[in-house]
Amino acid sequence: MADEAAEVRRFAERLGVPGLVDVHTHFMPESVLRKVWGYFDSLGPLTGGITWPITYRREEDERVALLRRFGVRAFTAMLYPHKPGMARWLNGWAAEFAARTPDCLHTSTLFPEPGVTAYVREAVEQGARVFKAHVQVGAYDPADERLDPAWGMLAEAGVPVVIHCGSGPAPGKHTGPEPIARVLARHPRLRLVIAHLGMPEYEDFLELAERYPEVRLDTTVAFTDFSERLAPFPRRALPRLAGLGDRVLLGSDFPNIPYPYLHQLQALERLELGDPWLRAVCHDNGVELFGLG
Ligand SMILES: [Zn+2]
Repeated sequence: MADEAAEVRRFAERLGVPGLVDVHTHFMPESVLRKVWGYFDSLGPLTGGITWPITYRREEDERVALLRRFGVRAFTAMLYPHKPGMARWLNGWAAEFAARTPDCLHTSTLFPEPGVTAYVREAVEQGARVFKAHVQVGAYDPADERLDPAWGMLAEAGVPVVIHCGSGPAPGKHTGPEPIARVLARHPRLRLVIAHLGMPEYEDFLELAERYPEVRLDTTVAFTDFSERLAPFPRRALPRLAGLGDRVLLGSDFPNIPYPYLHQLQALERLELGDPWLRAVCHDNGVELFGLG
């Protein structure tokens, strides 16, 4: 593992950036994380027998220390509720986690439920820098009218929302581009960061990013050997990805990945979109978006 950290740092050094900004890492209360790992452990039947061994199944402090050894300058605590009545509690945990983890961007989440407008406002006032929404796990319509004031508020405040809304690794009732298009039609300035590049509906989500200048995409799991087997990125869309170079952000899904962290970086490098593109994706775009200076 020590060798891997050195190799990750060499990747950034070669690009000439002071480290990485990873917009999609998971930290959450221990009890919830165990459930998430349980989900991945049981994923085989959902994906036709593909297994998803968690590479970094370690204690929280070791996971934070590892990201630091990788030279990750800033990361997030992506967490999300699967039912009502949970988001406020998760947000309390995430605020406390960010307070004791200065390199973690204060993350919050939301769910269509009574009180959502109030707790989203509270989180923004307390300094939340990024939100996470998970349409597949939450099984809700992101265009649900109960979320409307919250989306409006986040658009106004310019707080990015990393949203898992593509239909991978398994489709949900409200996954796919159509519900997101309805949200953006009402809130065109909302800073949605489409997780996993919208896998597997890559091209539909590229189109949304091309239409709405505040929409961004994160690379999480995309282009790895793992996802290229399950949901390959269409080669014909690479020029469009290059064209959106200032709005693609490194995401890794650390620690819940079935391969080493370095593989995500190599998977981006082998696209051969060039070092300026890699520098923007792995560092500069995140610095810009979160005002890291
Ligand atoms: Zn994730």
